[in-house]
Amino acid sequence: MREILAARAGKRVDASGNVIGDLPRDHRDPSHLLTGILRCGKPKDGGGACDSRLRVKTYTDGKVFRYVCQSPSAGGCSGVGRRGDLVDHFISELVLHKMEEVQFAQSEGVEWSYEQEYREATERLEEFTDKWIAAEFSNDHYYRVLPKLQKKSVA
Ligand SMILES: [Zn+2]
Repeated sequence: MREILAARAGKRVDASGNVIGDLPRDHRDPSHLLTGILRCGKPKDGGGACDSRLRVKTYTDGKVFRYVCQSPSAGGCSGVGRRGDLVDHFISELVLHKMEEVQFAQSEGVEWSYEQEYREATERLEEFTDKWIAAEFSNDHYYRVLPKLQKKSVA
């Protein structure tokens, strides 16, 4: 993730994330991963969420930062502050996981139509495992059934 971001610093990026050129020199790169993306989710009195953009607040030597909701005078509720490094890490993992999922689906070359089957096969597998652990099946029966189910899970 850091490598990806570093490669994009100061560059223009298209919708697919490909670098397509340099940014104008006066452009200010976002200083933190989620600047301008995160919004405050604190519920408001009377329903809905605060929804104002979180700002980065830096502490001490600049190593520690938080995403915070601005003061009410700036349109926020000042009710939210989260450790930036942890949030960045969590979101990075989430994004990478999603990207892997998409790449996996694309590499299959087909629409992901086996999801239902996969889930059912997995559930059955777990069911069998539970029953086996509860000694309702003999080992022999379990080992005969297991390979078939695993094959279905992978297919
Ligand atoms: Zn807020």
